[in-house]
Amino acid sequence: RCSVSTGPCFWGYRFWTHSQASPHRWMRQALPTAAAVADLFPPPPDLASKAHVTSQDEYERMYRQSIEDPDAFWGDQASSYHWETPWSTPIVDYNFDVRKGPVQITWFPGARTNLCYNAVDRHVLAGDGDKVAFLWEGNDPGVSSAMTYRQVQEQVCRLANWMKSVGVGKGDDVTIYMPMTPELPIAMLACARIGAVHSVVFAGFSAASLSSRMLDSSAKLVVTSSGVRRGPKVLNLKQIVDEAIALCAAKGHDVGTVLVEDHQTALNRSDVPFTPSRDVWWHDALAPQPAECPVLWLDSEEPSFKLYTSGSTGTPKAVQHSIGGYMVGSGATFKYVFDYRPGDVYWCTADCGWITGHSYVTYGPMFNGATQVLFEGVPTYPDAGRMWEIVDKYNVSLFYTAPTAIRALMAKGDEQVKKYSRQSLRLLGTVGEPINPEAWRWYHEVIGDSRCPIVDTYWQTETGAHVLAPLPGATALKPGSATFPFFGVQPVVLDDNGNELEGPATGVLAMKAPWPSIMRTVSGNQQRFEETYFSLFKGYYFSGDGCRRDEDGYMWITGRVDDVINNSGHRIGTAEVESALITHPAVAEAAVVPVPHDIKGQGIYAFVTLMQEHAYPPEEALKKELIATVRSTIGPIATPDNIHWAPGLPKTRSGKIMRRILRKIASLEESQLGDVSTLADPSVVETLLSTRGV
Ligand code: ATP
Ligand code: MG
Repeated sequence: RCSVSTGPCFWGYRFWTHSQASPHRWMRQALPTAAAVADLFPPPPDLASKAHVTSQDEYERMYRQSIEDPDAFWGDQASSYHWETPWSTPIVDYNFDVRKGPVQITWFPGARTNLCYNAVDRHVLAGDGDKVAFLWEGNDPGVSSAMTYRQVQEQVCRLANWMKSVGVGKGDDVTIYMPMTPELPIAMLACARIGAVHSVVFAGFSAASLSSRMLDSSAKLVVTSSGVRRGPKVLNLKQIVDEAIALCAAKGHDVGTVLVEDHQTALNRSDVPFTPSRDVWWHDALAPQPAECPVLWLDSEEPSFKLYTSGSTGTPKAVQHSIGGYMVGSGATFKYVFDYRPGDVYWCTADCGWITGHSYVTYGPMFNGATQVLFEGVPTYPDAGRMWEIVDKYNVSLFYTAPTAIRALMAKGDEQVKKYSRQSLRLLGTVGEPINPEAWRWYHEVIGDSRCPIVDTYWQTETGAHVLAPLPGATALKPGSATFPFFGVQPVVLDDNGNELEGPATGVLAMKAPWPSIMRTVSGNQQRFEETYFSLFKGYYFSGDGCRRDEDGYMWITGRVDDVINNSGHRIGTAEVESALITHPAVAEAAVVPVPHDIKGQGIYAFVTLMQEHAYPPEEALKKELIATVRSTIGPIATPDNIHWAPGLPKTRSGKIMRRILRKIASLEESQLGDVSTLADPSVVETLLSTRGV
């Protein structure tokens, strides 16, 4: 076991050392050469002058302290929060090396705190109770409401009291299956208040997917809603919960209680199946409960929640997070990466069913006392201008979404965007997948009127918070790069044998030491935790993602390691080929996968979705044009061997392309599609199977 040490550990860190003489040389090199000028976007001066971190030098200084002296750096960050019992030093203790014993991570040893207290009570006690926490916008325009921090506190307390009254307490598992209404973060916070462990499942997963998660986490209580409206569709959530409970019962697990929020704008009570001996209406349950509920102080390392990964690479993993480290990590990244200031109106479009909705809806923003928009609907309902209408309605200043949404809106044209002012926006963010430079530029020029920096945040369910991301007042941006590590994060690029590569290099992304919000284990399965993240490259946390570090030290995610194509010995990132394809004006989206190839080892197979005005299949000439585009952008080594026209791509419910399914389709292995339960629209697979070779 070792603690993060100072001095040598940092200077031995190869990221900095392609010139041993000057560890800062990569920063200096960030000054562009003439040819690269067009690709570098320096921080807007007025934003930079007021930012939390105002220059690359300041970032560098803070970063260095975060690695060399974590006690001082993280102690200072943590002092913004209430700790009932302080931590002892060293502030971090860990083992990443399976050869030395079990992998373990401890931050803020001995400290006790509470996530709910820090997200809610602290602000009310400081006199900010009347500040708006949630600006809720329903699926249908015109349906909206607002809720202050004090009102959130009252609801959380009533719910926490009710949960205790039905026997839910510290360490008990609670499954939450709800739409994006204020009751969803409220339910999460109520669990946090009393030490119950929430597991939020995206309200849209099938009964089978829900039940497997409920079984895996032995849920005692399910909190749900009568229904949800998403675009023109209404989903009867309670009916899905009932089916899931029946599936659990068939496997011998009894879910004792179901709390049902009565979401009347979606469904009437009478449309919802209800079992009085087991089910309780939210409003009936909360009304008689006291509006105050004492906070349970918990050890920093006790579990806060578990969350299943999106399942794009296999069976979802139940990622378990901590309390103290998670709080400080999600809170600090929110503050610095979005450069949050009081007065901002923040909107993250992610659902709380994903980690983004945990760290950057329920927790990070609320730890900072932010006012945020919660949106129940979808970006294209009633039309593709909805997002910008909401931005204008609430004067949103910080906007955070996913590349898939950006590409979908880009395909609908600029007109729906230009109808709205968007003058309130000062920063844009993206997460979830590599963003291709084409979409980045559209986001920057059309949505942000070339005024707003874009923070491309690379992170994972497992990392709990951003690990690679620019700081908007400090970092010059390159479209498509998540730039540099956040404080405390020590990324390395490894070759296939686990050697750390220096300078500009392509390989796999790993981390050599823990940052506060890293996951603590796979819930109930330490073995899977160690096998998945710590076995392939001993002594490192392995991200599963491929990565390139350029000559200026910028980090570029090249896609999942499984998707890096070995084409006649050249390593080609699928993300790079996709980016090249998407520069063609006819292409809306592209997904590239490897296929076995007799001569080259692996061939390049591209699925291509066209802009909405094109019919399928298009003229043969388009194929030639796309191939020419890739050859001229990357080079002949990246020439696609196949182009498959795809009116739709298989995506997870969080909007990520499931490349593992595309790999099977491309390789004629459709009998081995694997777990497709997390697909948003399974019919897409049928269409692709039937159009192979067309
Ligand atoms: P599973 O682990 O079950 O396959 P998943 O990896 O899709 O699911 P998440 O934790 O939600 O589940 O996603 C994290 C992954 O998303 C990262 O490992 C990376 O591949 C991708 N990703 C997230 N943000 C970015 C980004 N800004 N740039 C590039 N890739 C990103
Ligand atoms: Mg993953």
